[in-house]
Amino acid sequence: MTIRKRLLILAIGGVVPLVLVGLALLWSVWHAKQQQLNDGMEQQAELAAVLFDRWLDAQEQPLRTIAEYSSTNGINQTELQDALKAAITPRSSWTDLRALDADGKVVAIEPTNAESLPSGIAERLLAEAQRGASGVETDWTKGEGRYSLILMAPMKSGGAVTARIDGAGLQQIFQGITLPERTVVTVMDPQRRIIYRSQRSQSAVGMDLTGSTITSVLNDRKTAVVVLKSSVDNVERVYGVARAGNTGYSVSVGVPSSVLYGPAWQQLTVYIAVAFVVACCAAVGALLIAGSIARPMRLLSMAAQKFGEGDFSARAPSAGEDEVSRLGMNFNAMAQRLEKREARLAELDTLKSEWVSRVSHELRTPLTTIKALTRLLMRGGLSEAKQREYIETISVECDRQIELVLNLLDLARIEGGVFRITHERVNVDEVMSSCVKAAVRIAEKRRHDLRVEPNSEPLFVCADPKTIRRVLANLIENSVKYTADGGRIVLSAQQDGEEVTINIADNGRGIPAEDMPILFNKFYRGKPAPESAALHDAETTEFLEDADMSGVGLGLYLARNVVERMGGRISVESEVGRGSTFTLHLPSWSEGGCGESVNSNGNNKTIARG
Ligand code: ADP
Repeated sequence: MTIRKRLLILAIGGVVPLVLVGLALLWSVWHAKQQQLNDGMEQQAELAAVLFDRWLDAQEQPLRTIAEYSSTNGINQTELQDALKAAITPRSSWTDLRALDADGKVVAIEPTNAESLPSGIAERLLAEAQRGASGVETDWTKGEGRYSLILMAPMKSGGAVTARIDGAGLQQIFQGITLPERTVVTVMDPQRRIIYRSQRSQSAVGMDLTGSTITSVLNDRKTAVVVLKSSVDNVERVYGVARAGNTGYSVSVGVPSSVLYGPAWQQLTVYIAVAFVVACCAAVGALLIAGSIARPMRLLSMAAQKFGEGDFSARAPSAGEDEVSRLGMNFNAMAQRLEKREARLAELDTLKSEWVSRVSHELRTPLTTIKALTRLLMRGGLSEAKQREYIETISVECDRQIELVLNLLDLARIEGGVFRITHERVNVDEVMSSCVKAAVRIAEKRRHDLRVEPNSEPLFVCADPKTIRRVLANLIENSVKYTADGGRIVLSAQQDGEEVTINIADNGRGIPAEDMPILFNKFYRGKPAPESAALHDAETTEFLEDADMSGVGLGLYLARNVVERMGGRISVESEVGRGSTFTLHLPSWSEGGCGESVNSNGNNKTIARG
């Protein structure tokens, strides 16, 4: 799976649970709010029911007064008639008022021509009266949604006082209270028929709500809440329903769900929308962040792939301060090092090939010379002088071969860490003289003036005699090689404090200043001097020319290496066209011995006394 996908999953995995928790919280807040609103509706319904109950009670009050008065004072019919008249006159919505005896016979009635009570209702009310309870019934006998409420107050005699109130009188009950907009108050009688609806609707009054949840929701409770579509106008409302005392009547207050829950629902919708936007932003953000991390990783991987395929110039993006940029930087640094190493290896490879061919050439050339001269000698017919010259040349070439092989062996020993030197008392004049003697023949061939400047006092150094001899021989050989014919090569030595300096000065071609820092490097070879010329006859010139300027660039490298191992150093001064002076600085011998020096591995070693 790609990093991009993983990061995306990580981000979404973090955001989704948060969003879910947020939604769950919102849902519970919404429920609490809904409950609060429903409770409010229940309270409103309860309040409306109390109003209705109080109104009924207020209507019953004159009935109870008349019933009590007639029972206690035993008044006659005329007085009862007057009492009824006095009670009905100020009450415009009352249709009639009557007193019944225990058998249901009218004792007094006002107005006198009032209709009799519908059968059934009168009996039920009288039965109630005989139990000593007051009661109220709805009279629907007038039809077309018209009705009356018949209220009854019991008399002690078993009779009752009843009043018929026109249904229109109920309008006054709720006139005093201000209801919120689009709120509907409905009053239902015990037969579950609507006797009042605040929003006037002709068809509503008298409507039978049997079977509707609004009538069954109360059960044994005093108040309840129900959400349903109105049977009257089909509007979905939240209804608070409450019983009106013990009358059997119930009152509901309904508010359209959209009005009641609207603001809260709107708020919830805003929260959900915000949560959705936040989730989307998080997903987009995660996508961008994942991209910003994955892109440099992809580029880094591409760079690594290219690098692996051999394109050493491939680099990763590294601008920035973050971890991926630092990774890129580290990769680039590594790539740069490897590129350099690769270039160096290629360079070394070239050097190695060049060196192998040079060494092969160095080995082949003297052998060819030796073979050619041997053949000339074997052919015979040469003058004695010529024979001698050829034999000397063969000897010189053999020495050169031996020297080359020894140099190669030294190189192998130095690089293998097994080069051993001794530290002994070495007479400087003796070494210089023997080296000059060994080189005198070849110097003569080049008509060089090769000599040693003698010292009045003998000088002694602490050195490995064989090694110091080979170093000196090498430096003399170089001076002979790189000085034009007829040059001057002078060896001298001086005591310089604790050390002895040995100079090999020539007036040869000199060394360019730009080559000085690499002069002692392994395999360094300067460009051949144009003025170098051979001194030999035509037959041998090509061999000897080669031999005179031959070399593999190891002499100075080995010289510095071994001189430093002997506790000394080597320096050079040179000017192109004027000559060079190589100086060996070696620790001088004292009576106390050679002191401390270093072995071939660079470790300190106490050396033997010479
Ligand atoms: P080689 O002589 O085999 O080339 P060396 O290490 O002895 O190797 O010398 C390295 C190079 O230094 C020579 O190729 C030459 O260019 C330069 N060199 C050494 N000695 C002298 C000298 N005396 N005069 C001029 N150039 C010299």
